Amino acid sequence: MRIRRLKLSGFKSFVEPSELRIEPGLTGVVGPNGCGKSNLLEAIRWVMGESSPKSMRGGGMEDVIFAGTSSRPPRSFAEVVLTGETAPIDGKREELEVVRRIERGAGSAYRVNGRDVRAKDVALIFADAATGAHSPALVSQGKIAAVIAAKPTERRAMLEEAAGIAGLHVRRKDAEQK
Ligand code: ATP
Ligand code: MG
Repeated sequence: MRIRRLKLSGFKSFVEPSELRIEPGLTGVVGPNGCGKSNLLEAIRWVMGESSPKSMRGGGMEDVIFAGTSSRPPRSFAEVVLTGETAPIDGKREELEVVRRIERGAGSAYRVNGRDVRAKDVALIFADAATGAHSPALVSQGKIAAVIAAKPTERRAMLEEAAGIAGLHVRRKDAEQK
């Protein structure tokens, strides 16, 4: 799929509504330490249905909501809007707008092209190996070092996840129990 635009509001350090346009070609995000570069990548993963707070560097999912500073009060919700086009289906790309919003105490809600959908539906949209919250195309900061430092068994698990075959072990265990 192609991501063309990302809108963030109350997401981590992006407290005021912010928009990022991604033009064709290579896009680089540069800035000083702590300016929010990794938060941007996390916003992409989050709107695609990431369900693990740990991979958002938080303890709970609500930790993605702007927590406030000495001069700004915390926000009650975070929202990320991803606009783009699907991968070609029968040679045709379709417009896609995915919205994920989380409110304190109310959990996450998703909308795709204006319609309320379940987390599962969003996961299905991004289910092909090239996109999605767990796509090997999204490499988090520190992940390369983690691969180098990992024990052989851990490294195998990472490679299996990247190859998209991690689910096979679960299904094999299932089959063995039956
Ligand atoms: P580096 O170059 O060090 O990798 P970076 O540009 O990747 O930095 P990020 O890790 O994206 O920076 O941003 C970290 C900043 O985001 C920190 O200042 C942190 O306080 C802020 N931040 C993270 N979560 C929240 C939150 N929920 N509310 C407010 N600020 C947050
Ligand atoms: Mg970073």
